[in-house]
Amino acid sequence: MSIKLGIIGGGQLAWMMADAANKLGVKLIVQTPSPNDPAVSIAQDSIFAAVDDAAATEILATKCDIITFENEFVNLAALSLLEKQGVYFRPQLAALAPLLDKYEQRCYLRDLGLPVPHFLALSAEQEQEKEIKSQIESLGFPVVVKARRHGYDGQGTFIIADFATLAKIVNQSHSQFLVEEFVPFQRELAIIAARSINGEIVIYPAVETCQENQVCRWVIAPAKITKEQSLEIDAIANKLLNSLQYVGVCGIELFLTAEGKILVNEIAPRTHNSGHFSLDACETSQFEQHLRAVCGLALTNTTLNCASAVMVNLLGYESSHGDYQEQRQQLADIPQATVHWYGKTEARPGRKLGHITVLLEQDNPNAIKDIIHKIESIWYPPDQICENFP
Ligand code: ADP
Repeated sequence: MSIKLGIIGGGQLAWMMADAANKLGVKLIVQTPSPNDPAVSIAQDSIFAAVDDAAATEILATKCDIITFENEFVNLAALSLLEKQGVYFRPQLAALAPLLDKYEQRCYLRDLGLPVPHFLALSAEQEQEKEIKSQIESLGFPVVVKARRHGYDGQGTFIIADFATLAKIVNQSHSQFLVEEFVPFQRELAIIAARSINGEIVIYPAVETCQENQVCRWVIAPAKITKEQSLEIDAIANKLLNSLQYVGVCGIELFLTAEGKILVNEIAPRTHNSGHFSLDACETSQFEQHLRAVCGLALTNTTLNCASAVMVNLLGYESSHGDYQEQRQQLADIPQATVHWYGKTEARPGRKLGHITVLLEQDNPNAIKDIIHKIESIWYPPDQICENFP
């Protein structure tokens, strides 16, 4: 009998589970706000409701055996009632609980002894308090201010140069914030790790990521790091996933400083943009690995099937209803390239519309740089091409 898997969220992360679901004989049922959302087209059934609508999740639970997440903006308290009634969530809600609020996540990582930037919590009421001001001063401007919940792709993240700007940001919203030191990182890294129900852990090769305006622009696999750094990152993943008793795939974003120090920036309790290369460049994609983990199957190989791979996000650069056929064709004509187009009906600046992965037979930095430049030149208007090459 095939497993029926409910997914809270029906965006591109759920859409990219389709091939793996077919292969494993898993039926997908999504809870997502709009019939236009990418995963509706590949799901057996859909419930159209916000991801934090727990009454809709109760209906979802009647249609499936297990529920997983492609989006962490859920109402954990309401879902806990369902879990108590016997609904299977994977990862289980206790593993998600310390991760959903950015400040609580930081505290959890720090208490585990993992390396994180210096940080503190801030609310509008506290902003004028002397003690808080001196704590922020001790971080040193600029500081990074992040909404504790519902931030993504840089929404809710601000790099702040002084107290006046900080007060403006904090007072114009009633949110609670995480304030942290600005890390002058040399590079950003990420890994995808998966843990099975039996506690087995597999980890994909670490990648280098580039963010422009806090949105991921491209990813290179594997990252050029030392053996020691690679072991250190794997140890971070093992400690975290075991401590959470996590089941499923999670993304771990990291900073690498000029001194070679690794700091954990953020944990995403789901499949992650930095792992999209695995669809084309690895024996088992992060999406298959996630389905395997949450459905109780054994985890499999995470190795690259090429010397290196480049993934470039195709981000919206205008408001449009176009489908960019011509640019997509030019991108698809690049040797060893695969274009993944999410089928969204509306483009907006910064919106993730698709991505392209190019496989390389050699791990050659110049060839990687040329490919990123070529893709950017085909996709973006000349004034929006990113010059921040590796
Ligand atoms: P989101 O959840 O919106 O992706 P992140 O915390 O991952 O937010 O931040 C997005 C990007 O902002 C990071 O990838 C990094 O480029 C930059 N950033 C975040 N925190 C810091 C920091 N403390 N120091 C320097 N840059 C940061």
